Amino acid sequence: MSDSELAILGGKPVRNTPWPRWPVATSQTMANLEAVIHSGRWAISGCLTNSSGYEQMFCQKFANYQGSYYAVATTNGSAAIKIAMQEVGVEPGTEVIVPGLTWVACASTVVELGAIPVLVDIDPKTLSISVKAAEAAITDRTVAILVVHAYCSAADIEGFVNLANRRGIALIEDCSQVHGAEWQGKKLGSFGQLGVFSLQQTKVLTCGEGGIVTCNSPDSYRRLQQYRGNGRIYTTDQKPGQLALVEIGEVWGANHALSEIHSAIALAQLEQLDAQNTLREVNASYLANALEKIPGVNTITPPSGLTKRTYYDYVIQLNPDIIGPFSIHQVVTAMAAELGTFIETLDAPMNSNILYNPLLFKTVTDKKELEQLNPKRFDLPFAHQAYNTSFAFLHHLLLASTKDMDDIVSAVLKILGSIEKLRDKE
Ligand SMILES: *Cc1c(COP(=O)(O)O)cnc(C)c1O
Repeated sequence: MSDSELAILGGKPVRNTPWPRWPVATSQTMANLEAVIHSGRWAISGCLTNSSGYEQMFCQKFANYQGSYYAVATTNGSAAIKIAMQEVGVEPGTEVIVPGLTWVACASTVVELGAIPVLVDIDPKTLSISVKAAEAAITDRTVAILVVHAYCSAADIEGFVNLANRRGIALIEDCSQVHGAEWQGKKLGSFGQLGVFSLQQTKVLTCGEGGIVTCNSPDSYRRLQQYRGNGRIYTTDQKPGQLALVEIGEVWGANHALSEIHSAIALAQLEQLDAQNTLREVNASYLANALEKIPGVNTITPPSGLTKRTYYDYVIQLNPDIIGPFSIHQVVTAMAAELGTFIETLDAPMNSNILYNPLLFKTVTDKKELEQLNPKRFDLPFAHQAYNTSFAFLHHLLLASTKDMDDIVSAVLKILGSIEKLRDKE
């Protein structure tokens, strides 16, 4: 069998050496873990010890990193979105504008708060939410726009700040895919009232499961703490042996608190973020340069305002005439077999995503509200076009050497050379 035979058809794969692993623990990660375990304080609701709490240290350090005054950590990114939504007044009778091409939690948290997610299309160039589509979707019930910076690009944040100010609507930035990215030298996540981040396993900053919200307003900080801690906030008078949290109960809170153990990990991982982002950027630029030379293959050109670009995933697009609309899954499987790693499609557009079925959320019974929740009522042509022509790999491949990037290029070339065989297989 020749070397040109595709690996999924029994040929020799382009690569059989391993890729870098993710996440990467350092000696600092292990030292923090050991220290927190021995500290006698595993949760922020535990009594204070003689040393500083990890959750507070992490929140302070992350807020500084972002150029924001405050940060409140949560159990996961979904909880971060939820408390941010609560803070800007998302409740029954309100609407939130959400991109139609993103992770399901961006819309499902809105549903859980009893509000209506209004799904809008993406900008096909950035694969992130379109300012124009968002503006067209505003009604007198719109209280917030969830801007998701997605797929190794970013939304036009200047356009969104302008829109939100003009229309008096809150702006929440979901930066779960862009930790460390900057727009005109300022961190994404610091443009809206609130920035939210996931710290889940696959993200470029992770502690396994976690999330965090940033803000500048002291009043927001006070309420966000209560939404995540059953109405409790940090006392300004911290004493060893006593509780760190005091009960004030000004808003209806729940428990979304990040554990001290997770916080200790996150604190150590944050130290690696900039160096890892820089390495990924070098490899990603090399890769884009090589891939752009292949006819029919495109990479994502970020908006010019994105002065520091980061990579959660790396997206490769094929011209629609090369790839039939239903073949992207074949390309994903073929790439995975050539490279010996996980390759994925983009998230399924939210109006045809099996994970997003608000009609299963049984507390809604009102017929009119059920109609408003129905995702099928939204038209998302650019989201579908992007989904049908794109595949992606996760960022840890970009932590390999520049030479390893050639394997990715070889795999793309090999598959394009035999694309007819994929069609036959379908
Ligand atoms: C990962 C992700 C989330 C959800 O975060 P979890 O920590 O898994 O709850 C939300 N939004 C975006 C854009 C994400 O990529």
